[in-house]
Amino acid sequence: MRGGEQRHQLRWRRRVRRRILALPLGTTREDQCMMARALTLAQEAGERGEVPVGAVIYREGVILAEASNDREASADPTGHAEVVALRRAALITGGWRLSGCSIAVTLEPCPMCAGALVNARVARLVYGARDPKAGAVDTLYDLCRDARLNHQMSVIGGVLRHPCSSLLTDFFRARRAAKRGSPSPKPATP
Ligand SMILES: [Zn+2]
Repeated sequence: MRGGEQRHQLRWRRRVRRRILALPLGTTREDQCMMARALTLAQEAGERGEVPVGAVIYREGVILAEASNDREASADPTGHAEVVALRRAALITGGWRLSGCSIAVTLEPCPMCAGALVNARVARLVYGARDPKAGAVDTLYDLCRDARLNHQMSVIGGVLRHPCSSLLTDFFRARRAAKRGSPSPKPATP
């Protein structure tokens, strides 16, 4: 009886553990590590006042380039993490064609970034949180797998999606609170 209970508990624990560790199909240990690194980069960007998004480009276990969103600091509308990382990877490899490369990015790429990934011939995209306002991979468009374009890549979405998404939610919540809390400008004295 006691042995039966123990076995039951063990099975139950295993089931819970599997659920907690559940990862999207096709995710490798390497993808998880790269996404964890992208998350750190995103967090650092948030601390600098940038929208917290991070990206890592890797091939055969080696990181070629990493970046975070730097739109505010660079005053560049194309300063999204993916574009910055692609530029760095192209510089390092000496060519724009990033065949065989994977990219891990904390947020679903926007149309600009998804287009840049197609143009760079990236082989795999691994992303964290979905973007309901600009997601161009699964949410609003499917640019990375559109057969009408001259390149398609494999896509794995939802890797570490909870921490990726909470990082963004917390950032925007804090920003809204700071705006509400900031003193309103005093009227000009005559
Ligand atoms: Zn983008």
